[in-house]
Amino acid sequence: MVRSMNVKLTSKLVATAAGGVVALVAAILVAFVLGRTSRTSAYPKDGFFKSYAVFDQTIVEMPSPAVEKAAKDGAVVLIAVSPIEEHGPHLTLGTDIYEAMFFTRGVRQDLGSRGIQAVIAPPLYWGVNNATGGFAGSFTVRPKTMQSLFEDVIASLQSWGFRRFYVISVHGDPAHIARLNEAVDSAGKRSHVSIETITVPWDAAPFPPKLQTDVHAGAFETSFMATIYPGEVNAGLARKLPTQNSFYPRGYWGSPARYTTKGVRAYLDAVVAEMTDEVVQKEKAG
Ligand SMILES: [Zn+2]
Repeated sequence: MVRSMNVKLTSKLVATAAGGVVALVAAILVAFVLGRTSRTSAYPKDGFFKSYAVFDQTIVEMPSPAVEKAAKDGAVVLIAVSPIEEHGPHLTLGTDIYEAMFFTRGVRQDLGSRGIQAVIAPPLYWGVNNATGGFAGSFTVRPKTMQSLFEDVIASLQSWGFRRFYVISVHGDPAHIARLNEAVDSAGKRSHVSIETITVPWDAAPFPPKLQTDVHAGAFETSFMATIYPGEVNAGLARKLPTQNSFYPRGYWGSPARYTTKGVRAYLDAVVAEMTDEVVQKEKAG
């Protein structure tokens, strides 16, 4: 009896296991077919999608008690602020915020090695895009929205105990800079905290080699992105683009084709080092 039950049970188990295997194989096949379909038919064929995480190394990746402890320990807060904006056909919309995040992560790391603890706030990638506002992908928010958002983010951080803030922005639109300065001023007053803007010292070292500092998505930015975030660059297309001396018609201003990756990382590290110096000096001054 026991034996026959065991046999029955065993054959049942075998049948179940076999069914499981069949289901598993079917699931793998479906996933494979779906995966192939999405890889081959999904929109952009070379519209990149080689994602970098803007939350990388920010407080978004920390649990609440660690954030609380950082505030208690007197960590300074670094905030990257640069809007999502079109950058020609060869760079992605995230270019400015990716660039700002590169500097912000670099400064945080350098500060750590100089005994200053810093955390990175989630980046603010909504801003004012007057200059490129006519192109798809250049989000622009109303100045009061940008100001309110900035004030509220600072107020949240302040409520957890953070008191000292450094803003890092690479976006050069004068309207954006004016709004950001106003927002920094009003947020500091509302929350009774210190907020400093660290201007990117583009002249921290000679830019390699003889790249003109063109206006937008040209040789300069293409070099930056190709060095640090190569997945965000269509390199083949960049090499073919003619020089433009206005934003139109292709959404860049300069000479993307002249981009290089030679010596760019060392140049960018020099920029980061100078930004870190500025934060250290301001921290010493209190
Ligand atoms: Zn840019």
